[in-house]
Amino acid sequence: MSTIRFKALEDVLERQPKHVEFPSDKASNYYATNVFSQETMREYLPKEAYQSVMASIDKGARLDREMANQVASSMKDWAINKGASHYTHWFQPLTGTTAEKHDSFFSPISGGRAIEKFDGENLVQQEPDASSFPNGGIRNTFEARGYTAWDPTSPAFVIGKTLCIPTVFIAYTGEALDFKIPLLKALQAVDHAATDVCQYFDKNIIKVSASLGWEQEYFLIDKALYNARPDIMMTGRALVGHNPAKGQQLDDHYFGSIPDRAVAFMKEYEIEAHKLGIPVTTRHNEVAPNQFECAPMFEEANLANDHNLLLMDLMEKIARKHDFRVLLHEKPYGTLNGSGKHNNWSLGTNTGVNLLAPGKNPKTNLRFLTFFVNTIKAIYDNADILRASIASAGNDHRLGANEAPPAIISVFIGSQLTKMLDDLEKSIGAGKLTPEDKTELKLSIGKIPQILLDNTDRNRTSPFAFTGNKFEFRAVGSAANCASAMIALNVIVAKQLQEFKKSVDTRINKGVKKDEAILKELQKLIKESKDIRFEGNGYGEEWVKEAAKRGLSNLKDTPSALKVMIDKNTKKIFGDLGVLSEVELDARYEIELENYIMKLQIESRVLGDIAQNHIIPTAIKYQNTIISNVKGLTDIFGKNLKSLASSQQEILIEISGHLNEIRVNSKKMLEERRKANKLSDSEKMAFAYCNNVKPYFDVIKYHSDKLELLIDDELWPLPKLRELLFTR
Ligand code: ADP
Ligand code: MG
Repeated sequence: MSTIRFKALEDVLERQPKHVEFPSDKASNYYATNVFSQETMREYLPKEAYQSVMASIDKGARLDREMANQVASSMKDWAINKGASHYTHWFQPLTGTTAEKHDSFFSPISGGRAIEKFDGENLVQQEPDASSFPNGGIRNTFEARGYTAWDPTSPAFVIGKTLCIPTVFIAYTGEALDFKIPLLKALQAVDHAATDVCQYFDKNIIKVSASLGWEQEYFLIDKALYNARPDIMMTGRALVGHNPAKGQQLDDHYFGSIPDRAVAFMKEYEIEAHKLGIPVTTRHNEVAPNQFECAPMFEEANLANDHNLLLMDLMEKIARKHDFRVLLHEKPYGTLNGSGKHNNWSLGTNTGVNLLAPGKNPKTNLRFLTFFVNTIKAIYDNADILRASIASAGNDHRLGANEAPPAIISVFIGSQLTKMLDDLEKSIGAGKLTPEDKTELKLSIGKIPQILLDNTDRNRTSPFAFTGNKFEFRAVGSAANCASAMIALNVIVAKQLQEFKKSVDTRINKGVKKDEAILKELQKLIKESKDIRFEGNGYGEEWVKEAAKRGLSNLKDTPSALKVMIDKNTKKIFGDLGVLSEVELDARYEIELENYIMKLQIESRVLGDIAQNHIIPTAIKYQNTIISNVKGLTDIFGKNLKSLASSQQEILIEISGHLNEIRVNSKKMLEERRKANKLSDSEKMAFAYCNNVKPYFDVIKYHSDKLELLIDDELWPLPKLRELLFTR
């Protein structure tokens, strides 16, 4: 009798939803109360200090020591009022999660007394013990020196007893060691490039902010079941396990009622999220059993990303209080749907205009078209950079599987906008615009708003889809830091907008009227980027063939996708815009490879252990039971046994067959792992793990799953998939 498994199942059946206390009857009463927001700052800071902070938020101006001291002092008072005793610089190292090191406000002074101390220096800069954070060779551990520095564009907040200060993480040699620095730089690049282009349309536009609205998918699993599955515990996904008879075929989970225990968990993290000013609004079931999604209102991209990371942290903490674990892995359960994190993205101006929303008249629609077409062209030219930005071991299981966007990057815009672009492409002749051309163009451009209202054909299979007033990048993995995708997207769009501006200016300088110059350039871009547009089924095999014909890349695994990070073109784009230097890209490449290798190495080890310590012994135990049965039958029936025990004998042979395959393939996998580990070049090692180690996962799983079906249920040691997914 497998005690851990059955004990876990009993535990789950006994669980009750936890009671959740609301701080007040209205969320608006406690919304953002734990945030040192602009409003709070205005209240707590002396006027001059407040203005200094605002200047550093709006213009990136440096905060001088005097002002920093004043801000720190007010921030400390506010935080202590909220019950904080410690402070931490909260940052995003390249491991993909967040990191913090807590220091106490408490500071002993002479005479056996103590005070609560926190000055400008503690606020603005800190030196965490950074030796254990990945740096891709930029720092070797002997000079493990990097520092964190305050990012005033993202407000400080209090969690529990800690004041958290969002910071960037930089090597003393100046290179970025985190996601935030390049994100801030990419956002600045797109701001400048887009603002320049906006000048064609409206001189009042002086700032453009990229927005991000993420949708976070995740699975919940009961803690007892989690603890009984070493694979899920160590790797975030089930490495073995036969498909349950019922999966997600019935789609009855999607938009069905959320189980009570899950609702209680959601209520609590939403309350905590609201206190932190994270505007989460929607929650619902996803397609797979025990899969859910939550999404906030969109925000400025840097803040939105901080909020996503914070929420991921919160979810994990609060899940524990409810006896759950959150699985953020992209593919926890083989054939079931995986989890993604849609990144909705747009560009907004200081004048309150969404540049990807069609306007009310031909002029504003021309502006819309400009940003719309330039984005498509940016994706066409740099699809591989975008693909590299979402590459991870987890996401490899998802991209191209039948529920997620394929690894081929394409853009969906809907049939009506497609027609509109096709018309535009044809209607502008090679020469100057005739008056008839102009009338026709005005007409078709003027039609855009109506077009979008009834543009309801949503294509769920596209990795990059236009959804009315924003693009939705759907291929981002659920565990990822959105910054990676947002850096890539904003960089390539910035670059494209710069080129667009240059070409249009050249046309204007040759005497072409502004609107005509813009239209002609757009026409050229529409033509050039046509191949990236795809309206059909992205999951189909035909698309793979068609995409190949069009010359689009299909980078199926992480090592192949990552290589793009260090090619000449990428380095030039990132370098020219000042977002990441060659050294930084090389380092990031190295870190991503290491992350990938580590993930596969751990999976391979865990799978080897499970095979050896769980599956094989169980198979042998069951065989022994059958053997005693056959022996007993022989005692009674002697020579007449043959047909009486034939089924038992068949089972014995089948079990031996699978057992043998598991054993042989585990050994081969181990050998391949050893060979891979000997390689000193990380790129080669990553490819070795991908091509030589990983293929054994499926083989071992196949035979283990066959044994799961053959062996007495009472003996099977690991909670089965049907139990993980349906016990409640
Ligand atoms: P879906 O049908 O894809 O699930 P949802 O309505 O759940 O769509 O999510 C839409 C997301 O898009 C929300 O997170 C929302 O905040 C975001 N969004 C809406 N407008 C913008 C915008 N201008 N920029 C960025 N994100 C946006
Ligand atoms: Mg979506």
